[in-house]
Amino acid sequence: MAIKVLVVEDEEKIARFIELELQYEGYEVTKTVDGREGLALAETGDYDLLLLDIMLPGLNGLEVLRRLRKASSLPVIMLTARDAVMDKVSGLDMGANDYITKPFAIEELLARIRACLRKGADQPATDAETSGDLICGLLRLNSQRYEVSYDGTAVELTSREFSLLQTLLENQNIVLSRDTLLERVWGYDYMGETNVVDVYIRYLRAKIDDKFKVKLIRTIRGVGYVLKEEGA
Ligand code: CA
Repeated sequence: MAIKVLVVEDEEKIARFIELELQYEGYEVTKTVDGREGLALAETGDYDLLLLDIMLPGLNGLEVLRRLRKASSLPVIMLTARDAVMDKVSGLDMGANDYITKPFAIEELLARIRACLRKGADQPATDAETSGDLICGLLRLNSQRYEVSYDGTAVELTSREFSLLQTLLENQNIVLSRDTLLERVWGYDYMGETNVVDVYIRYLRAKIDDKFKVKLIRTIRGVGYVLKEEGA
Protein backbone atom coordinates (compact mmCIF):
# COMPACT_ATOMS: atom_id res chain seq x y z
CA MET A 1 0.00 0.00 0.00
CA ALA A 2 1.28 3.39 -0.95
CA ILE A 3 2.15 5.87 1.79
CA LYS A 4 -0.44 8.63 1.84
CA VAL A 5 0.72 12.21 2.07
CA LEU A 6 -1.60 15.15 2.59
CA VAL A 7 -0.31 18.46 1.20
CA VAL A 8 -1.95 21.64 2.50
CA GLU A 9 -0.43 24.46 0.46
CA ASP A 10 -2.15 27.35 -1.29
CA GLU A 11 0.68 28.20 -3.67
CA GLU A 12 -0.44 26.17 -6.65
CA LYS A 13 3.03 25.91 -8.22
CA ILE A 14 4.66 24.60 -5.06
CA ALA A 15 1.79 22.20 -4.35
CA ARG A 16 1.92 20.85 -7.90
CA PHE A 17 5.70 20.46 -7.76
CA ILE A 18 5.50 18.52 -4.49
CA GLU A 19 2.66 16.39 -5.83
CA LEU A 20 4.53 15.40 -8.99
CA GLU A 21 7.77 14.63 -7.19
CA LEU A 22 6.08 12.60 -4.45
CA GLN A 23 3.97 10.66 -6.93
CA TYR A 24 7.14 9.89 -8.85
CA GLU A 25 8.57 8.43 -5.64
CA GLY A 26 5.49 6.24 -5.20
CA TYR A 27 3.60 8.25 -2.59
CA GLU A 28 -0.13 8.80 -2.88
CA VAL A 29 -0.80 12.53 -2.67
CA THR A 30 -3.88 14.52 -1.74
CA LYS A 31 -3.76 18.31 -2.07
CA THR A 32 -5.85 21.07 -0.63
CA VAL A 33 -5.35 24.84 -0.56
CA ASP A 34 -7.58 25.53 2.42
CA GLY A 35 -6.55 25.22 6.07
CA ARG A 36 -9.96 24.25 7.35
CA GLU A 37 -10.37 21.54 4.73
CA GLY A 38 -6.81 20.38 5.40
CA LEU A 39 -7.58 19.95 9.10
CA ALA A 40 -10.74 18.00 8.33
CA LEU A 41 -8.83 15.69 5.98
CA ALA A 42 -5.93 15.25 8.43
CA GLU A 43 -8.39 14.33 11.18
CA THR A 44 -9.83 11.46 9.15
CA GLY A 45 -6.76 9.43 10.05
CA ASP A 46 -6.40 8.35 6.42
CA TYR A 47 -2.94 9.86 5.99
CA ASP A 48 0.58 8.88 7.01
CA LEU A 49 2.13 12.33 6.80
CA LEU A 50 1.07 15.97 6.54
CA LEU A 51 3.00 18.68 4.69
CA LEU A 52 1.58 21.90 6.05
CA ASP A 53 2.08 25.45 4.81
CA ILE A 54 1.60 28.27 7.33
CA MET A 55 -0.04 31.16 5.50
CA LEU A 56 -3.27 29.56 4.29
CA PRO A 57 -6.80 30.68 3.54
CA GLY A 58 -9.49 29.41 5.91
CA LEU A 59 -7.29 28.54 8.87
CA ASN A 60 -3.57 29.20 9.13
CA GLY A 61 -1.13 26.31 9.38
CA LEU A 62 -0.19 26.89 13.01
CA GLU A 63 -3.85 26.81 14.01
CA VAL A 64 -4.41 23.67 11.93
CA LEU A 65 -1.47 22.08 13.75
CA ARG A 66 -2.69 23.21 17.19
CA ARG A 67 -6.13 21.75 16.64
CA LEU A 68 -4.82 18.59 15.03
CA ARG A 69 -2.47 17.87 17.94
CA LYS A 70 -5.38 17.68 20.40
CA ALA A 71 -6.24 14.28 19.04
CA SER A 72 -3.63 13.18 16.52
CA SER A 73 0.05 12.30 16.41
CA LEU A 74 0.17 12.36 12.60
CA PRO A 75 3.72 13.29 11.52
CA VAL A 76 3.76 16.91 10.33
CA ILE A 77 6.42 18.75 8.33
CA MET A 78 5.82 22.50 8.20
CA LEU A 79 6.59 24.38 4.98
CA THR A 80 7.88 27.73 6.16
CA ALA A 81 8.75 30.93 4.38
CA ARG A 82 12.35 32.03 4.42
CA ASP A 83 12.08 34.86 6.92
CA ALA A 84 9.45 33.35 9.20
CA VAL A 85 11.63 32.40 12.15
CA MET A 86 8.76 32.78 14.62
CA ASP A 87 6.58 30.42 12.59
CA LYS A 88 9.30 27.83 12.63
CA VAL A 89 9.72 28.05 16.40
CA SER A 90 5.97 28.05 17.09
CA GLY A 91 5.47 25.14 14.72
CA LEU A 92 8.01 23.00 16.56
CA ASP A 93 6.59 24.12 19.92
CA MET A 94 3.16 23.04 18.79
CA GLY A 95 4.35 19.59 17.88
CA ALA A 96 5.47 19.73 14.27
CA ASN A 97 7.97 16.93 13.66
CA ASP A 98 10.13 18.93 11.32
CA TYR A 99 10.11 21.93 9.03
CA ILE A 100 11.56 22.82 5.69
CA THR A 101 12.13 26.31 4.37
CA LYS A 102 10.84 27.36 0.98
CA PRO A 103 12.36 27.27 -1.55
CA PHE A 104 13.82 23.82 -0.91
CA ALA A 105 15.58 21.14 -2.92
CA ILE A 106 13.26 18.20 -3.52
CA GLU A 107 16.01 15.82 -2.34
CA GLU A 108 15.93 17.51 1.04
CA LEU A 109 12.15 17.28 1.32
CA LEU A 110 12.24 13.58 0.37
CA ALA A 111 14.94 12.89 2.95
CA ARG A 112 12.96 14.71 5.64
CA ILE A 113 9.82 12.78 4.74
CA ARG A 114 11.68 9.47 4.99
CA ALA A 115 13.28 10.46 8.31
CA CYS A 116 9.92 11.64 9.65
CA LEU A 117 8.17 8.40 8.70
CA ARG A 118 11.01 6.35 10.23
CA LYS A 119 10.95 8.22 13.51
CA GLY A 120 7.22 7.78 13.82
CA ALA A 121 4.78 10.23 15.22
CA ASP A 122 5.63 9.84 18.89
CA GLN A 123 8.83 11.86 18.77
CA PRO A 124 8.32 15.54 18.09
CA ALA A 125 11.41 17.42 16.96
CA THR A 126 11.31 19.56 20.11
CA ASP A 127 12.76 16.78 22.25
CA ALA A 128 15.14 15.53 19.59
CA GLU A 129 18.61 14.42 20.59
CA THR A 130 19.29 16.88 23.36
CA SER A 131 21.07 14.41 25.59
CA GLY A 132 23.62 11.67 25.18
CA ASP A 133 26.10 11.09 22.44
CA LEU A 134 25.62 11.58 18.74
CA ILE A 135 27.62 8.92 16.93
CA CYS A 136 28.71 8.31 13.36
CA GLY A 137 31.13 5.43 13.02
CA LEU A 138 34.03 6.26 15.32
CA LEU A 139 33.03 9.91 15.56
CA ARG A 140 31.30 10.86 18.78
CA LEU A 141 29.86 14.18 19.94
CA ASN A 142 28.50 14.88 23.40
CA SER A 143 26.47 18.08 23.46
CA GLN A 144 26.26 18.28 27.24
CA ARG A 145 29.95 17.96 27.92
CA TYR A 146 30.69 19.83 24.69
CA GLU A 147 33.15 17.17 23.60
CA VAL A 148 34.02 15.61 20.27
CA SER A 149 36.25 12.62 19.74
CA TYR A 150 37.28 10.30 16.94
CA ASP A 151 38.18 6.76 17.97
CA GLY A 152 38.84 8.04 21.48
CA THR A 153 41.07 10.93 20.36
CA ALA A 154 39.72 14.35 21.37
CA VAL A 155 38.91 16.77 18.53
CA GLU A 156 39.12 20.46 19.40
CA LEU A 157 36.44 22.54 17.69
CA THR A 158 35.37 26.16 17.86
CA SER A 159 31.76 26.73 18.93
CA ARG A 160 30.63 27.33 15.34
CA GLU A 161 32.37 24.20 14.10
CA PHE A 162 30.79 22.31 16.98
CA SER A 163 27.25 23.39 16.16
CA LEU A 164 27.79 22.70 12.45
CA LEU A 165 29.00 19.19 13.26
CA GLN A 166 26.15 18.70 15.71
CA THR A 167 23.61 19.70 13.04
CA LEU A 168 25.18 17.29 10.55
CA LEU A 169 25.18 14.48 13.12
CA GLU A 170 21.57 15.09 14.13
CA ASN A 171 20.61 14.80 10.47
CA GLN A 172 22.89 11.91 9.61
CA ASN A 173 22.29 10.53 6.10
CA ILE A 174 20.08 13.53 5.26
CA VAL A 175 21.39 15.94 2.67
CA LEU A 176 21.30 19.47 4.06
CA SER A 177 21.33 22.44 1.74
CA ARG A 178 23.65 25.37 2.38
CA ASP A 179 20.60 27.48 3.20
CA THR A 180 19.40 25.01 5.80
CA LEU A 181 22.82 24.80 7.41
CA LEU A 182 23.09 28.56 7.36
CA GLU A 183 19.75 28.94 9.13
CA ARG A 184 20.33 26.23 11.68
CA VAL A 185 23.90 27.06 12.57
CA TRP A 186 24.22 30.78 11.87
CA GLY A 187 20.59 31.79 12.31
CA TYR A 188 18.10 33.70 10.24
CA ASP A 189 19.62 37.08 10.96
CA TYR A 190 23.00 36.14 9.53
CA MET A 191 23.89 38.80 6.98
CA GLY A 192 27.32 37.67 5.80
CA GLU A 193 28.49 35.60 2.88
CA THR A 194 26.66 32.33 2.20
CA ASN A 195 29.95 30.62 1.39
CA VAL A 196 30.67 30.68 5.13
CA VAL A 197 29.11 27.19 5.18
CA ASP A 198 31.69 25.89 2.70
CA VAL A 199 34.46 27.52 4.67
CA TYR A 200 33.41 25.85 7.92
CA ILE A 201 32.89 22.51 6.19
CA ARG A 202 36.54 22.80 5.11
CA TYR A 203 37.60 23.49 8.72
CA LEU A 204 35.68 20.45 9.93
CA ARG A 205 37.12 18.25 7.22
CA ALA A 206 40.64 19.33 8.11
CA LYS A 207 40.07 18.46 11.76
CA ILE A 208 38.20 15.19 11.21
CA ASP A 209 38.25 13.67 7.72
CA ASP A 210 41.76 14.68 6.76
CA LYS A 211 43.28 14.12 10.18
CA PHE A 212 41.81 10.65 10.66
CA LYS A 213 41.91 9.72 6.97
CA VAL A 214 38.16 9.13 6.66
CA LYS A 215 35.38 10.52 4.50
CA LEU A 216 32.40 11.32 6.67
CA ILE A 217 31.38 14.74 5.36
CA ARG A 218 30.28 14.37 1.74
CA THR A 219 29.53 17.07 -0.77
CA ILE A 220 26.35 16.56 -2.78
CA ARG A 221 27.00 18.66 -5.84
CA GLY A 222 24.46 21.39 -6.40
CA VAL A 223 22.58 20.51 -3.21
CA GLY A 224 24.68 20.67 -0.07
CA TYR A 225 26.32 18.36 2.44
CA VAL A 226 25.62 15.10 4.21
CA LEU A 227 27.34 13.27 7.03
CA LYS A 228 27.48 9.51 6.55
CA GLU A 229 29.32 6.63 8.05
CA GLU A 230 32.31 5.44 6.00
CA GLY A 231 31.27 3.07 3.25
CA ALA A 232 27.61 4.00 3.69
CA1 CA B 1 0.82 30.00 1.69
